[in-house]
Amino acid sequence: MSCDVKKYARVVVNIPVNKVFHYSIPEEIKDSIDVGSLVNVPFGRRYLTGYCVGFAGESDVQNIKDIKSVTDKNISVDDGMLRITKWISDYYCCSWGEALDAVMPVGVKNSLTAKPVKFAKLVEDVSGAEDEIDRIAKKSPAQARILRTLTEINNELSVKDLLSIAKANRSSLSKLEERNLVVIRTSSCSSPKTKENKHVILKDVARPDLSDEQQKAVDVIDTKLKEHSFNVILLQGVTGSGKTEVYLRAIELAVSLGLCSIVLVPEIALTPQTIRYFKTRFENVAVMHSNLLESDRRQQWQSIKNGTVNVVVGTRSAIFAPVKRLGVVIVDEEHEGTFKQENSPRYNGRDVGIMRAMYNDALVILGSATPSLESYYNAVREKYTHVLMKKRIGKMVVPHVDIVDMAKEASQTKRFCYISRHLERSMRKALLEDGQIILFLNRRGFAPFINCRKCGFVLKCKNCDITLTYHKITNNMVCHYCYREQPAPKDCPDCAMPDIKYQGFGTERVEEEIKRKFPDQIVLRMDSDTMKKRGSHEKAFAEFENGKAHILLGTQMIAKGLDFANVTVVGVISADTTLNIPDFRSSERTFQLLAQVSGRAGRGVKEGLVIIQAFNTKHYSIQHALKTDYEGFAMEELSFRKQLNYPPYGRIIRILFMGKVEENVKERATVLTNRLKRYGREKGLTVDILGPAEASVSRIKNKFRWHTILKAPKSCPIHSIIDHISSDLPLSGGVQSIVDVDPGYML
Ligand code: ADP
Ligand code: ZN
Repeated sequence: MSCDVKKYARVVVNIPVNKVFHYSIPEEIKDSIDVGSLVNVPFGRRYLTGYCVGFAGESDVQNIKDIKSVTDKNISVDDGMLRITKWISDYYCCSWGEALDAVMPVGVKNSLTAKPVKFAKLVEDVSGAEDEIDRIAKKSPAQARILRTLTEINNELSVKDLLSIAKANRSSLSKLEERNLVVIRTSSCSSPKTKENKHVILKDVARPDLSDEQQKAVDVIDTKLKEHSFNVILLQGVTGSGKTEVYLRAIELAVSLGLCSIVLVPEIALTPQTIRYFKTRFENVAVMHSNLLESDRRQQWQSIKNGTVNVVVGTRSAIFAPVKRLGVVIVDEEHEGTFKQENSPRYNGRDVGIMRAMYNDALVILGSATPSLESYYNAVREKYTHVLMKKRIGKMVVPHVDIVDMAKEASQTKRFCYISRHLERSMRKALLEDGQIILFLNRRGFAPFINCRKCGFVLKCKNCDITLTYHKITNNMVCHYCYREQPAPKDCPDCAMPDIKYQGFGTERVEEEIKRKFPDQIVLRMDSDTMKKRGSHEKAFAEFENGKAHILLGTQMIAKGLDFANVTVVGVISADTTLNIPDFRSSERTFQLLAQVSGRAGRGVKEGLVIIQAFNTKHYSIQHALKTDYEGFAMEELSFRKQLNYPPYGRIIRILFMGKVEENVKERATVLTNRLKRYGREKGLTVDILGPAEASVSRIKNKFRWHTILKAPKSCPIHSIIDHISSDLPLSGGVQSIVDVDPGYML
């Protein structure tokens, strides 16, 4: 670009106003600024990091301000990223600046401040110091936490990361330095070398011969990759059909063509085995996820940008990895809700992946045993190439699935229990044969609510329209929305009678029952209460894999991707839990969950048995899961979606209004919704506008919630309606309006 048009820079910043701002370019930075540069700009009374998205030769802005500086010549956003973020901004109704900011990892943005970074590590030889560490632990818990963190991570850590993880302050660290237990070094640039997580046992996996179905899938991928054009393949393979191996081959093919790959997985901590496969097969794999330390993130971003890494595996934001020549985007478990970001920009990593591949003439592979109805519908309509893998690998057979009607069980046994007789018998048999058991319950805590037997009072959260869950371990009542805790009452808070009843059941309560029934067994419980610590997933999975524990009980975090050959029984404690959530995707989620959980059984040579316990045994989600019949389920669910114009037959945008004063929320929702309706009528747009109505969780964290749902066969008309009011959407009169495109949840 010639210098005379470089007079003004067009800059966007990370604020919820979708506007491009003009700044003039001082002479001394003319040579260093380019499209994609990160710049420091005065904004109101402060300075913000902005992104230069273009130049202008003239501007009609009055009192135009100067750009202060270009932050770092080596860090910039390339054309591809500018394009994809512009699309995100248009499609997901956020500002371009917000979208660009999502692309840049925190560690990279922070490095721009370019202060030297301090790193801390344990002294090389702490063997003699163990007694001292024990002594310290007694006297100073903060210092002990620092030591424990460093021991656990077994690596150098930036001081900032260390103190935040250990919840300690700088003076505690300095004391440890004085005692010669910790060394601190100052580094002006990069971060420490990352070590393997020590809990992950690396196996020497050879490249297996492909099954016929895998070979067919790989052939299709090979052909499509060589076309160098945009294509989407839906790889629908039953659990255990060996999808991971197909992904690995796809990456090998891409590598042989000199192309990079991005693999999206739902959650890193929950897919340690998948990560292990990638790491053993490829030299330079970057693993990206939200739990990474800033320093690691920066290092990875740079090595991807430099081209030293050509395979990226990560959670949704990994789709923004700055790879140069993108060849293939793989989305594992593409149906998972975790690909959708629940704060602005509310993008879906899978869908951004499809767009990014489109802009780069790349291939997309969407893998799942239970595809989202959106992807399945696209495959059936031949928008996507549909590749099926119906058989499990080798001798693994599809497990036998039984159902237990818990209402009948209760009437026959004359009491309510969490583990039916059939499940208990099967567990005993499995244990006798040295098999392992996975039990699944999608609800944590001890009891989801408590009430008074005398007056019927139910204890709810002060801030949210939701019952408090009793957690026995802490003897607290916890809100699962705002995490507020309060001590469990002994007497009814309302009528003061000492007659509190713990209703329903969560993982804690079921764990207690299992321990009572199987006193000799170690029960591993995995839910967000027991898995708070970094590395705890890996540790628990390793314990289960080693056979230290034979019973694994967990929430949905154990439903995904796990591959334990020795598991012969899988029990679903209550299939009704997800079914009863008032959301149009509940049936889909229930079916997917049951299919995924069932897929954990019988993955070795031993035959597997799945037992589903439910009250609502006749529901089609459960009935089709029983037969492992995805197509049957999809047909039934699709016809229901079609009747109501729900996705995949229609697009949905949800506008959520939130604020502290209910009247204001309601009024704002009504005013804006009426404007939308009027505009839609005037323009003759075919958009259904439902609402405003109170959201099904009507209050969270003391904010009242109303919503309006827009439905249309195509997304264009909804977007033009939203555009009409978009400038009025940000905060007004204490009411926040949030636009959620293709919402994951409607609660
Ligand atoms: P999916 O993701 O489809 O449920 P996985 O990728 O987890 O299935 O594969 C199931 C198991 O089969 C894994 O233990 C994997 O190592 C193994 N496997 C995959 N492909 C082959 C093959 N061609 N030969 C032998 N074992 C294989
Ligand atoms: Zn709450």
